Amino acid sequence: MTTPAMDKIIALRHWLHAHPEVSRQEVETAKYLRLFLQEHATPDEFLPLHGAGFAAIYAGREAGKTVLIRAELDALPIHEINLDLPYRSIHDGVGHKCGHDGHMAIVAGLAQALAAQRPEKGRVALLFQPDEETGSGARNCCHHPNYAKIAPDYAFALHNLPGFAAGQIICRTGTFASAVKYAAVRLAGKEAHSAQPETGASPSFAMARITLMAQELQQEFETPSEYALIVPVYSQMGVQASGVCPGAGEVHVTLRSGRGEALDAMWQAFSDRATHIAHKSGLEIRFETREEYTETRNNAEAVEMIVDAADALGLSLVIPEHPFRWGEDYGEIAGRCKGAMFGLGAGLDRPALHNPDYDFPDAIIEPGIAMFRRLVERALG
Ligand SMILES: [Zn+2]
Ligand SMILES: [Zn+2]
Repeated sequence: MTTPAMDKIIALRHWLHAHPEVSRQEVETAKYLRLFLQEHATPDEFLPLHGAGFAAIYAGREAGKTVLIRAELDALPIHEINLDLPYRSIHDGVGHKCGHDGHMAIVAGLAQALAAQRPEKGRVALLFQPDEETGSGARNCCHHPNYAKIAPDYAFALHNLPGFAAGQIICRTGTFASAVKYAAVRLAGKEAHSAQPETGASPSFAMARITLMAQELQQEFETPSEYALIVPVYSQMGVQASGVCPGAGEVHVTLRSGRGEALDAMWQAFSDRATHIAHKSGLEIRFETREEYTETRNNAEAVEMIVDAADALGLSLVIPEHPFRWGEDYGEIAGRCKGAMFGLGAGLDRPALHNPDYDFPDAIIEPGIAMFRRLVERALG
């Protein structure tokens, strides 16, 4: 049996799931959430932040510390295939396939608890952040003038994790989510008749060499204690005409590492070698960084609070040996205060994040709210 308050939160999650919006377009999502909070968990103030983002502020009677709790507003350009869901996405090609609908519901549930019982002292800022999936939302919110009005002492966020038992807590000190860089490499030469390629400059062999070089570089940077990944994710060259030897092409790569410094060194080596390859083929080369995630580094004191909260709630705890390979823009927020992120198990047999059949399990909303309530109490206490 769920309480009436939980019924509202689950209904909110289903509405959000049915109305997903991709990064930078989360207008209706933010509007609906603000109306929901206004009606069911009235904050002292809404602070607009970057894009559709905003923070809802709940202040205690006395001054004290500020704790920030983050949820993400965006869905993904992935078509939902769960046709049996009564609340399936009404937008073709867009789906809540990272479970951010569940994260928003959890933070809205925390808002209800805070509205019903304000903290004794200090403030809570519930941050509903846009553009997580592009890596830019957290950074842009932190640079917004209103973020200085929040200036959190502590910050917490969770991510649901399929592949772990439902309600399990996953956390580690140090790097939790990896540093990631997504970049385009653009090569420019000169088109030619394909019977006379020597009269032009084609990018085709340079593109192949750059792709193979990426593989070698990864092997050089990988050590037993630290992983390195360079993955070509896109390439484009030429036109579909037998007589045209192409004059331009591009390769896009994604680099990952558990350490920002290692990622920077890997990128430096990659761009130096790609430049050398391009120049040897008589090509111009340009690089464009399209997305960048700093690593999410968990503060030891904040992790201790997470471990204590899981213990007090009787939730089992997993300490992963290595950082997760995915990037999380929450690293920007965590890096500016005592911040940490933890995983909340979403079930062992649940489809993986970003799978087209993924759906956030309602059963983990309550443990998510309970964790945040404990963390808020502890951080402000
Ligand atoms: Zn995602
Ligand atoms: Zn996500």
